[in-house]
Amino acid sequence: MANSNSVNNCRLEGIHASSGISFGRAFVVKIEELEIPKVAIEVDILEQEVDRFENILDQTRSEIINLRDDVAKNLGESEAEIFDAHLLVLEDQALISETIKEVQDTLFNIEFCFHKVCQRYIVFFSSMEDEYLRERVVDIKDVSRRVLSNLMGQVKFDICKWASDSILVGQDLVPSMALELQKSNILAFVTELGTRTSHSSIMARTMEIPAVVGCEQITKKVYSGDFLIVDGDEGIVIVNPSEDTLSEYRVIQRKRAVIQERFDSSVSQPSETIDGKHLKLMANVEGIEDIPRVNSFKADGIGLYRTEALFLKHGEFPSEEIQFQEYRKIVENLNKGIVIVRTLDLGGDKTLEGHKSLRNEINPFLGFRAIRFCLKNHPIFKEQLRAILRASAYGKVKIMFPMISGVTELIEANKLLNEIKEELHGLSIPFDQNIPVGVMVEIPSVVFSLDILAPHCDFFSIGSNDLIQYLFAIDRGNEMVADLYQPTHPSLLRVLKQIIDSAKNLGKEIGICGEIGGDPLFTSLLFGMGIDYLSMSPSRLSEVRYLVQHLLLEDARKLSATVLEMGDTTEIMDSLKTFYSEKMGEAFENS
Ligand code: PEP
Ligand code: MG
Repeated sequence: MANSNSVNNCRLEGIHASSGISFGRAFVVKIEELEIPKVAIEVDILEQEVDRFENILDQTRSEIINLRDDVAKNLGESEAEIFDAHLLVLEDQALISETIKEVQDTLFNIEFCFHKVCQRYIVFFSSMEDEYLRERVVDIKDVSRRVLSNLMGQVKFDICKWASDSILVGQDLVPSMALELQKSNILAFVTELGTRTSHSSIMARTMEIPAVVGCEQITKKVYSGDFLIVDGDEGIVIVNPSEDTLSEYRVIQRKRAVIQERFDSSVSQPSETIDGKHLKLMANVEGIEDIPRVNSFKADGIGLYRTEALFLKHGEFPSEEIQFQEYRKIVENLNKGIVIVRTLDLGGDKTLEGHKSLRNEINPFLGFRAIRFCLKNHPIFKEQLRAILRASAYGKVKIMFPMISGVTELIEANKLLNEIKEELHGLSIPFDQNIPVGVMVEIPSVVFSLDILAPHCDFFSIGSNDLIQYLFAIDRGNEMVADLYQPTHPSLLRVLKQIIDSAKNLGKEIGICGEIGGDPLFTSLLFGMGIDYLSMSPSRLSEVRYLVQHLLLEDARKLSATVLEMGDTTEIMDSLKTFYSEKMGEAFENS
């Protein structure tokens, strides 16, 4: 066991965010309470470790001085005095030399030694009679946190290395961190915050690693080094399992692997029902690294390319050339079908740190997000449009605008697109003149104006993650209201049916790229409602395809007609589950 406080065979429940079972050691990242790594160092890097400490002290000093100046300017000199006290702590020669001596004597890393010395100071000052001296504890705590997070910031850079071959446990996983982790061999992740449709969960599904989110207090109950079982199908985490539990899960894991193999075998046949009806199954991707899996699952193209992933990976706005190269690679490497490139959907929980126009907002999901940001930042938007158009000369590309709330935004976005087309034409740069334009249906206002938008676009795609969020006023990333996020709510079913019927009457292709598009429980329902294509994380493609191959369109139609008559969320969910189990049961019997 990792720690004397560790618990044994303790079962914790959260929200199942990404399927699969993983076994491994926990690596706990605490944001609130920094968990200090303790690592033995070699004598020959001692000097390097001390240099690192001194550099960080300099960096922290500059930060505090900047803060002090800012506060003095905006709030006044007396408010800024607190930072003078912090500078005194930071420059305390005794603290610095004791830390260095600790490193030399113990040969442990600087974070650990600095933390240890600070703790000694805190204990000492806390016991002082003199109130003034006792209050210095607050300053020491504050400064030590600042220095430690800067020290760990260097380490944070290396989160891939630290978390490799481990199960990452943290309070939250912001999308930029999740992207960073794609490079590492992380086995699974468990977080206290988040829901099934928060972007980090979506990324876990793309990475095909198990994930459990909304797991309360996990960072308080689990220590780095604890052994965990993460069951991403059931949303369960078991801490330091007993031998019996471990063998029980090994059996479950083997059974699921057999089923998965069966699903994967569906790839050799087209995505056609028993009565020969084709349902287009497309993939949601975040970048070029996803393309091999899309090709091996024989997806009918890419139904959603979340381009903001490239921006988050860069941590800034990539140039037109960088974007063009990435888009072109995706288009050229895809074996089959078109690529629907969605323009930048930054904002909400996907922010670029330090960009002033993407500052913290009180209601980020209702704020300056996606097309709203793009229409107010023409140079950034135009660079992206240029890059997408240039890539359209290398394969079949469609363009799709996110978070459209009405026709004015669509007309404005199209106007900019046309300006770029003219510009490229003038420069004789090749691109697809007739590139189709699509609109994501994810804001309820659009549901009622598809006919107004239709003359200005070629297709629609339902973004059910946001549509549910905005329809029911539920923050999609907030685990406190996750139980209200109900995709089988009768209102949502009616809205979906209305969107599909309107789009069809208008002669427009209609697909879905939100998470329910890849949930096998919803496959038959959506197919029965008349959807043209489903787009999903590549990891969901084989199960959905297997199901389609064992369906009759008529049965799917009956199912959707039946549940559309129902008024109860649970009853609808139960019907979908029963239908799914029956179809899978028949399929397994017959194969
Ligand atoms: C959606 O909202 O359903 C969607 C596909 O977009 P995202 O999850 O990227 O917001
Ligand atoms: Mg969306």
